[in-house]
Amino acid sequence: MTNWKTRTKLVHEGSRRSQYGEMAEAIFLTQGFAYPDAESAEARFLKAGEDEFIYARYGNPTTRMFEDRIAGLEGTEDAFATASGMAAVNGALTSLLRAGDHVVSAKALFGSCLYILEEVLTRYGVEVTFVDGTDTAAWARAVRPGTKAVFFESMANPTLDLVDIRAVSDIAHKAGALVICDNVFSTPIFSRAVDLGADVVVYSTTKHIDGQGRALGGVICGSADYIQKVVQPYMKHTGGAMSPFTSWIMLNGMATLDLRCRAMAESALRIAGALDGHEKVAKVLYPGLKSHPQHDLAMAQMGTGGTLVTFEVKGGKEGAFRLQNALKIPKISNNLGDAKSITTHPATTTHQRLTDAQKAELGISPGLIRYSVGLEDVEDLIQDLEQALALV
Ligand SMILES: *Cc1c(COP(=O)(O)O)cnc(C)c1O
Repeated sequence: MTNWKTRTKLVHEGSRRSQYGEMAEAIFLTQGFAYPDAESAEARFLKAGEDEFIYARYGNPTTRMFEDRIAGLEGTEDAFATASGMAAVNGALTSLLRAGDHVVSAKALFGSCLYILEEVLTRYGVEVTFVDGTDTAAWARAVRPGTKAVFFESMANPTLDLVDIRAVSDIAHKAGALVICDNVFSTPIFSRAVDLGADVVVYSTTKHIDGQGRALGGVICGSADYIQKVVQPYMKHTGGAMSPFTSWIMLNGMATLDLRCRAMAESALRIAGALDGHEKVAKVLYPGLKSHPQHDLAMAQMGTGGTLVTFEVKGGKEGAFRLQNALKIPKISNNLGDAKSITTHPATTTHQRLTDAQKAELGISPGLIRYSVGLEDVEDLIQDLEQALALV
């Protein structure tokens, strides 16, 4: 790993060049690798060297570049790239846990993460306790000697509530538990999860890292021991590896990641400011606003409120739908961290399967809109919001 600063790492960390000295990262679109002789094949299966690969499900030079680049950025010893963000979340948890283990998890989770904790792990005899992730005392009550892991999204979807990573990590470590942090909403640029105590950081690279809505991907970042002895054997044999072509897309995404995340967060703060106090808006949930109850934590943990703004439109579902339909620039979709601004109505889409009571508990009201701020000119985005709000 280099000592370079973020932007230099994002462009160069982990690059490997073939004998041709190509400028752009090469796409090794190959499932496998030929060995010069039978003895080499035997030796490589016994122990593959740095630049030796066996099969793309185990590893691939393009994917290795991406893994080295993100590990270098995140500050972990190693990383394993996966076919999607969910393959990463599932791999990080399932590779580690066994029947009889106990896990504590925040309850405000991306729907598929909730499915893994609630439906998959429990099926194999893992006990899961859910807590309000923002309530540090609740984590302390739930974690017990023998708790194997804690899991949370550092910034929850869609309400943008923050988990105090340092406080929860301290609690978990005292019990000997591994801290696994889904860091998508915080982005690899604003995240300091590892410095704050997280042992494992998981990303859906589908979001900011690609940043242009092209490909699904994920990555698990952690210690060499955890990645090589726990995650790799599980991922290698269960088939969730990232494709070389996707790795190339993610490598290219990373070159501009810092510039994009910063531009989006600056625009998000401007948009949150424009919505705050607007007569058609009941409330704005953006940790970058000074009035937000977790503003200080957001600044300490991320130095920004992030790239999404969640807000409640007056007039419930009808108001929210009228606004989405009247907006001319943002697309109605469910990705985030994309160059194109996107609005999502969580209650009827991403969180549709929850009961009304569950939605209420998670703060997903009928008027709630999640706005993923893109790279368009912020003046255009604000003007567009104002004309649309006038029609609500
Ligand atoms: C999108 C997302 C995932 C899942 O990632 P996919 O790439 O869609 O599989 C997991 N966690 C969070 C917080 C996400 O936003």
